[in-house]
Amino acid sequence: MKRHGSSWPEPLDAALRVALAKGCTFTQAAAVLKDLFGVELSRSAVGGRAFRLGILADRAATREKALQSLVTARAARQPAKYPPRPKPKVKPMPAPQQFTCDAITGLRQADVVPRLLPLLDLAPDQCRWPYGDGPFVFCGCRVWEASPYCAEHTGLARSSGTRGEQMATRGLERVA
Ligand SMILES: [Zn+2]
Repeated sequence: MKRHGSSWPEPLDAALRVALAKGCTFTQAAAVLKDLFGVELSRSAVGGRAFRLGILADRAATREKALQSLVTARAARQPAKYPPRPKPKVKPMPAPQQFTCDAITGLRQADVVPRLLPLLDLAPDQCRWPYGDGPFVFCGCRVWEASPYCAEHTGLARSSGTRGEQMATRGLERVA
């Protein structure tokens, strides 16, 4: 494909100079050239030619026109049919907690007094954190948001763990 580059005829360049001198944007200058000479030029083609000719668009005038057309477009816009939907409120995650460790197992514990409910007594909004070696009983406190656990046990489940636990996890990843 032949580039317009240096092959622009002199009258086109002259018209472009005049259009830009009168404060046209590149898009408007392209429209003027199409009108005068019947040539289809993109905004960037006109901008490139202007750059090669050393013509700088009047930035202040161009910006003024762009802002004006923005104001016109905003004024012409239909008002929204419905008010904007309120954003759902998301409760922040519970603050990171300091966990105590079980003296015998060394496992972290949440600072919560479990109700130790059997599975069949658990309501959908009660924490499902298990206790015991089986048959298991469950925490039974009220769940946090959409979590299956209460806030304390959610924090325990999502925390990155103690240093020892992290090292054990990394070790297991290497073995696997
Ligand atoms: Zn719980």
